[in-house]
Amino acid sequence: MLIVQKYGGSSVANTERIKIVAQRIVDTYNLNNSLVVILSAQGDTTNELLAKIAEITSTPSKRETDMLLATGEQQSVALMSMAIQSLGYPAVSLNAQQVGISSSVTYSNARIEKIENARILKELAAKNIVIIAGFQGINSHGDITTLGRGGSDTSAVALAASLNANLCEIYTDVDGIYTADPRIVADAQKLTEISYDEMLEMASLGANVLHNRSVELAKKNNIKLVVRSSFVLDKGTVVKEKRKMESVYVSGVVSDSNVATISIIGIKDTPGMAYNIFSALALKKISIDIILQSVGRAGTKDIVFTLAESDLADALEVLGTQDDIITCEEITVNKDVAKLSVIGAGIEANPEVAPIMFGALFHANINISMIATSEIKLSVIIDQKDAKHGVQVVHDALIGENNQL
Ligand code: ADP
Ligand code: ASP
Ligand code: MG
Repeated sequence: MLIVQKYGGSSVANTERIKIVAQRIVDTYNLNNSLVVILSAQGDTTNELLAKIAEITSTPSKRETDMLLATGEQQSVALMSMAIQSLGYPAVSLNAQQVGISSSVTYSNARIEKIENARILKELAAKNIVIIAGFQGINSHGDITTLGRGGSDTSAVALAASLNANLCEIYTDVDGIYTADPRIVADAQKLTEISYDEMLEMASLGANVLHNRSVELAKKNNIKLVVRSSFVLDKGTVVKEKRKMESVYVSGVVSDSNVATISIIGIKDTPGMAYNIFSALALKKISIDIILQSVGRAGTKDIVFTLAESDLADALEVLGTQDDIITCEEITVNKDVAKLSVIGAGIEANPEVAPIMFGALFHANINISMIATSEIKLSVIIDQKDAKHGVQVVHDALIGENNQL
């Protein structure tokens, strides 16, 4: 069987852990499997490299940033390959260039476009365990790109899809997907299964346990994804098309602090204003999330919307250059907000989820400034300082032992 395994930064954080993982890889290999292993950079390496950049410049070139960040993963794969060889087994480490992982041009947030299988298949045919650097690609300029923070998950799923692997296992420092980040909610429950759609919402709404693009790719290619612990033996959580519904309405509570709001106050209340604003932002590939428009008064209205805080500077620049078409009194920004969301395939069918969530926040004295709903999620914007507590009280009310559902 061909298996793709991915080990995250904490799983290869130091020599001792590299040796533990090497043994685990060898154990899987000994069960007569062909193995392709994707690794992240060791521990906090990526953050440390970013800190080094900050010592030099506050406006680094994205190309050079990717050039530097990609070295973290290359260290891991070479060390792992040596650890496996020291156990007496054949292994070879490869980077994106050597494999032929082509990506889009965009530095720091590239998308994988194509993977050449030939080199990997050649190494597998020679019975090698193939260890591949995650998080990186090569663009059409022949330059190294990176896939966005947490992107090694996406490298793994893309390789599993390209190689038509039977299974893609994501090894990390938790033993599966929980109903909330177990670091925030002590009694979060482990899910044995979760659907691609719910997992995609969870990942996109702030659960960084999986890179959201990896879930999108797994769904598109129908790849069975299993999230497991590198340290304890456990079946983990299976991410797949459909899961048993049981009586579960809500499968998770997440928060995301990488959110900001922009309020455009006193816009002329005439047709085309929303079009002007959002088409200008779309042109710069800035994704907008929740949009709220006030009732018109005295010929004007307000539009408030949320976006990723990391896109804020670009968005303000776009709006600033549209003075002639976006006539308004003022534009204000709030970075101290967070998005708190509940996700679950049963939300649409159960009208009680929303009032229970709002009630929990009310009793915790947490103010809601915006609300958005879809079939499988309910999101609210709250103050960033309330994010953790908000997750805890909403989890308690909807999922915890004394849940009101
Ligand atoms: P890796 O380095 O292995 O990629 P990450 O730090 O990216 O690991 O992801 C694992 C972390 O995700 C866990 O330590 C956990 O705190 C966090 N996390 C957030 N939400 C969840 C969730 N719903 N279930 C499990 N873990 C979660
Ligand atoms: N090393 C990269 C990061 O820290 C990629 C990853 O871990 O998936 O974001
Ligand atoms: Mg990760």
